[in-house]
Amino acid sequence: MKLYNTETRTMQDVHPSSSDGRLRMYTCGPTIYNFAHIGNFRTYVFEDLLRRTLKFFGFQVVQAMNLTDVDDKTIKGAIQNKVPLKEYVEPYRIAFFEDLQTLNIEKVEFYPAATDYIPEMIGLIEKLLENGSAYRSPNGSIYFSIKSFPSYGRLSHLNLNELKVNASGDNEADEYDKENLSDFVLWKAYDPERDGEIFWESPFGKGRPGWHIECSAMAMKLLGESIDIHCGGVDNMFPHHENEIAQSECCSKVRFVHHWVHVDHLVVDHKKMSKSLGNFYTLRDLTSRGWSGSHVRYLLLSTHYRTQLNFTMQGLEAAKASLQRIEDLILRLRAIEKPGEIDPSISLFLAKADEAFKSALAQDLNVSAALAALFDLVRELNTFADQEALTHPGAQKALRLLESWDKVLGVLPLEKQEAPAHLLELLTRREAARKEKNFSESDRLRRQILESGYLIEDTPQGARLKKQ
Ligand code: AMP
Ligand code: ZN
Repeated sequence: MKLYNTETRTMQDVHPSSSDGRLRMYTCGPTIYNFAHIGNFRTYVFEDLLRRTLKFFGFQVVQAMNLTDVDDKTIKGAIQNKVPLKEYVEPYRIAFFEDLQTLNIEKVEFYPAATDYIPEMIGLIEKLLENGSAYRSPNGSIYFSIKSFPSYGRLSHLNLNELKVNASGDNEADEYDKENLSDFVLWKAYDPERDGEIFWESPFGKGRPGWHIECSAMAMKLLGESIDIHCGGVDNMFPHHENEIAQSECCSKVRFVHHWVHVDHLVVDHKKMSKSLGNFYTLRDLTSRGWSGSHVRYLLLSTHYRTQLNFTMQGLEAAKASLQRIEDLILRLRAIEKPGEIDPSISLFLAKADEAFKSALAQDLNVSAALAALFDLVRELNTFADQEALTHPGAQKALRLLESWDKVLGVLPLEKQEAPAHLLELLTRREAARKEKNFSESDRLRRQILESGYLIEDTPQGARLKKQ
């Protein structure tokens, strides 16, 4: 399987670097100071697609996604709400896991919270101080000296000689841009005004970790000094990932990450969806308007991850319509009872479709080509069904193929949604009333079914119920 590596700017084969054959993957997770927005979820859905694809191709994946529960934003929230940090972040932590479930994102092996790894962070900072990669600034905070790491900038292809580097050790910000490139903070000395009662003791005094060191400490502790794949949104590339490389490699002296993978942004009117611009939707905003987790997941995964995705309600409508077409086919295939052998041309068609789907994914997760293979399949199978060329074994084989593809996509409407028995009973009575041309009775029954949240669909195979 080939995957684009941001650092080398080339397509590279994926393979585990360690002898146990396990693929180690680290994905930067949410800051749990609020609900995640669907821009964040574009990145997490892609990472899920990547994880599922790797497993589909036989890799054994060990993945960690961190939860940032200590940073400027969580501390500010806790102080404003006059509650301990843990208590402040807890509802957002729970909400995050609920949202992952709504989007059918697979659980990964580790979800470390930064505050559970403070001793590891302190350990790394001590090492960096010892070997001269870090220093204490006059304000008491500890800074990483980017001059101590000559390949600083290699991920985002920065030329340090061309940039004005402010190495004064007074930039306490975790997030900054290239114009403000500077030594970055590893440990922020305690400031009662900013931090309230929130601090940790350390050999370098009271304080708290900077954001970047959190990911290095958790990744190295849980996955080892060298990891195979590291993912995040493109905004994380600089400075966050650049800083992760510098501080990790200055401690371990080995390559921190073999393969860097960055997801382009979800945008609204060409602007990044973000909390600060206020142009965001949470998943809850969308589900409360009647969209399902599947609609949102389909929309988020259907654009290739290295292309910006412009979010619109029409996009969601289109996702819903695509899923509907697939569901119609699935219900049609399930209803085929005609006995007989599978037509060899149908077997051949299914094998070719599978090949097309897999080779699309193997090429840097070319999801557009994979979905094209899926919709070719939908069209062709409908044609076979129109011609009555599909037998029960053929239809079942096609359904097995869709089930296998869904191990990767995680979004196909394959779950059997039997309507409740009393509604099926009403449907039978409505059919009987229609046969007897008792239309007032059949209308009354239809309304009763509608009010229970189901639609009646008249299909060539007879009427069926579908959840609204
Ligand atoms: P944050 O909580 O801001 O650190 O973001 C968590 C993850 O979501 C990071 O990997 C970000 O790069 C990613 N992210 C943030 N905004 C967007 C967006 N509009 N589109 C795609 N990914 C995003
Ligand atoms: Zn990170």
